Amino acid sequence: MDNSPLSLNFIEQIIENDLSNDSCHKPLCFRFPPEPNGYLHIGHVKAICLNFNLGLKYKAPVNLRFDDTNPQNEESKYVEAIKQDIKWLGYSWTKECYASDYFEQLFQWALFLIDNNFAYVDSQSSELIAEQKGTPTAPGLDSPYRNRPSEISKQIFIDMSKGKHPEGAHVLRAKIDMKSSNMLMRDPIIYRVLDKPHHRTDDKWKVYPMYDWTHGQSDYIEQVSHSLCTLEFKPHRDLYDWFLKVLPTKNRTPQQTEFARLNLSYTVTSKRKLKQMVDEKIVSGWDDPRMPTICGLRRRGYTPESLRQFVEKAGIGKRENLIGASLLEFCIRDHLNKIAPRVNAVMDPIKLTIINYKNNEEYLEGEINPEQLSMGSRRIPFSKNLYIEREDFKEEANRKFFRLTIGKEVRLKNAYIIKGESVIKDKNNNIVEVLCTYDKDTRSGSGSEASKRKVKGTLHWVSQKHAIKTKVKIYDRLFLDPSPDQHKDKSFLDFVNPKSLQIQNAYIEPSILNAKPGESYQFQRVGYFNVDKNSSSLNLIFNKTVDLRDNWARKE
Ligand code: ATP
Ligand code: MG
Repeated sequence: MDNSPLSLNFIEQIIENDLSNDSCHKPLCFRFPPEPNGYLHIGHVKAICLNFNLGLKYKAPVNLRFDDTNPQNEESKYVEAIKQDIKWLGYSWTKECYASDYFEQLFQWALFLIDNNFAYVDSQSSELIAEQKGTPTAPGLDSPYRNRPSEISKQIFIDMSKGKHPEGAHVLRAKIDMKSSNMLMRDPIIYRVLDKPHHRTDDKWKVYPMYDWTHGQSDYIEQVSHSLCTLEFKPHRDLYDWFLKVLPTKNRTPQQTEFARLNLSYTVTSKRKLKQMVDEKIVSGWDDPRMPTICGLRRRGYTPESLRQFVEKAGIGKRENLIGASLLEFCIRDHLNKIAPRVNAVMDPIKLTIINYKNNEEYLEGEINPEQLSMGSRRIPFSKNLYIEREDFKEEANRKFFRLTIGKEVRLKNAYIIKGESVIKDKNNNIVEVLCTYDKDTRSGSGSEASKRKVKGTLHWVSQKHAIKTKVKIYDRLFLDPSPDQHKDKSFLDFVNPKSLQIQNAYIEPSILNAKPGESYQFQRVGYFNVDKNSSSLNLIFNKTVDLRDNWARKE
């Protein structure tokens, strides 16, 4: 393990420092605390990798804690999906915890706050309470209930918890400082009445703790040493520390540290906004391959390795920034290059007929992956009638066009050198077929002198009668703007790219018949494609993961 200060990110430096300076941070313990109100997205991958990698590095426990304090938006199906996504990323948690398991303890602590004059029941409307909050430059006003006797607050709070008061009638507030320069310290609400069943505690509770009141205490109960969260929680830290200071804590208290969230260009990373896209049917679901959710990225063909590499390259910092989607694409391209089998696939076919080919058909050999020769080879049928890409042929072309033209030679990948001879056109003068000749001595891998002849271009192709017709979904960016949710006067939905999905056919060599959902292939010279979950051997469907080359770097 390299522990030189330069190679450590700022959080590791804090940890190393804490470990060397005192013992109160030992033993280390971390947690990843999602709210089960949606599916995890690429931003969460950063928080997951950060916490779980620290656990691995320092051999410390990492808990998965569901921050489930808001029964209106939370569901068990999200709990299951979150667990599946973390496992898929390659991590395992030490304990599976739920904030809701601490509801009783939190309730007892709330009674302690009331008894010790650190909390009171406010019986004003939420509008009035908000009005009295003041502004960052003007102090707030004390509630008329602020000095109500503890016994009365306590009785009302207990009655609230039993459902004797309707929603909105009363709230429990921490009694801190209505003049604090930190607005969050101006007597924050810590409990509200909610008559909603909870996905785990069902209808046991009629009051639910607020996030701020729950989070730090949950960290404390689990004896988390370093509680890592995103920068927007920085102003919450005073409150986090205040609760732990006034409560009768006996053990060591956790320490909150903030890091910059991961923002990815041309998308949004907020569960609420992603849910809106699903609800408004802008995408087909949370796992639509255009979505920046983990399940969407998985269906698109991203691998756990590529996402972990991406997060590592993006780095852990203290300042917000926007990471280009090109970096994400670089990472998956890099990984798939090493692992994806190659196939020939023609997306926009034109017929190519080899007029001097006398055989019926033959089988040629191609490497499954030239980066990994141990993957072996595949058999590729060849015949007189092929398809090539329409864009790979021009009747006339300048010298820079290294693909097929009349009178010039190119190599057919894994096959022979051919020469363009003539074309057949329909009555509208469109080319419908290209005629060529081949040199039978030039077969790839035959070792002959002729096969070593250098030609400028190599084309992919498929044999017409052997080709498998498949459906391919091609994706573009989901949004037309690099930061669609950063415009004051517009909604992120105003920037949805209307052409982010195109469906077309591809004609692929028959080795593809074994393709199973979830597997990735390189369509040679085209890009990487993943077999969709709805694909079957009778009806193969592919999602395009990424182009072979970065066509976006120029635009970003
Ligand atoms: P969202 O706004 O998408 O719902 P959230 O922060 O409310 O995000 P949580 O489920 O509360 O979602 O997040 C769990 C953890 O993941 C938190 O510690 C949070 O700070 C972290 N996290 C969320 N979004 C990002 C992001 N874009 N980059 C890094 N960490 C993130
Ligand atoms: Mg949240």
